[in-house]
Amino acid sequence: MEIIRNPKIMQDTSRGHLLHSRTIGYVPTMGALHEGHLSLVRVSRAENNITVVSIFVNPAQFGPNEDFANYPRQVESDIEKLRKEDVDILFLPDNALMYPEGFSTTVEVRGLSEKMCGRFRPGHFKGVSTVVAKLIAVARPSRSYFGQKDFQQTVIVRQMVKDLHLDSEIVVCPTIREEDGLALSSRNAYLDKTQRIAATALYRCLMKGSSEISSGVRSGARVREAMNRVLADETQISAIDYASVYDPATLDEVDEIRGEVLLAVAVRMAATRLIDNILVRA
Ligand code: AMP
Repeated sequence: MEIIRNPKIMQDTSRGHLLHSRTIGYVPTMGALHEGHLSLVRVSRAENNITVVSIFVNPAQFGPNEDFANYPRQVESDIEKLRKEDVDILFLPDNALMYPEGFSTTVEVRGLSEKMCGRFRPGHFKGVSTVVAKLIAVARPSRSYFGQKDFQQTVIVRQMVKDLHLDSEIVVCPTIREEDGLALSSRNAYLDKTQRIAATALYRCLMKGSSEISSGVRSGARVREAMNRVLADETQISAIDYASVYDPATLDEVDEIRGEVLLAVAVRMAATRLIDNILVRA
């Protein structure tokens, strides 16, 4: 596995592969890799000639009171995991080369970025769309792989790629979960034993919403209330940012459930913020 730290060298390397008509699959990550990340890597390996993975804890997507400084960093074990998956290239950019002095451009997907998590993390999705635009410009992927776990991110990235005519297909892969339903996340490492048990409330809340819909409930408000009751019973949850039913295209809350809807939840347990979602067809 080749490790490239310089964006210019990464770009030249990708250009070389494209000139040889090799397809490039790309998996952007912030590291602390788990089976969720590796599932994206495996799909990319199956669908492309070359797989590029990046690890970059992007400062621009963390708010001033968020966990940038504490975000788990374990590059050595990440490298081992990626080697085992036969990844071709690890792009491990230097912060100073990604955001050199004088850097002054941002990419903002208006509207979608202010909904759901955007209401609680102002500026977060501007940081995400800016860095993903840069990373796609550097890695020049034929296909880019994202997890459904961050559903809002996939909707925003798709819109950005379309609006900016970026030449990369966006592929969304299913959420990988623990046996008890908890979605894998690098942030799960923050949870103590009690919180870890309590964290199953997110999946239970989604399952409750889903069972309401399959039993015929079509009122968004009623499903939302049922979902929130599951969370309210869990004393370890210190705040519910949201738990509701959304239109998967617009990310607006749904009053009358028809066709496919997104059930999504975001909560805080002390300093740890956890999110999850599922798609359900009425
Ligand atoms: P992150 O390192 O958290 O920025 O995640 C990098 C990519 O992995 C994103 O596209 C995430 O949606 C995806 N991802 C994170 N957790 C999971 C999971 N449990 N299952 C599938 N994909 C995931």
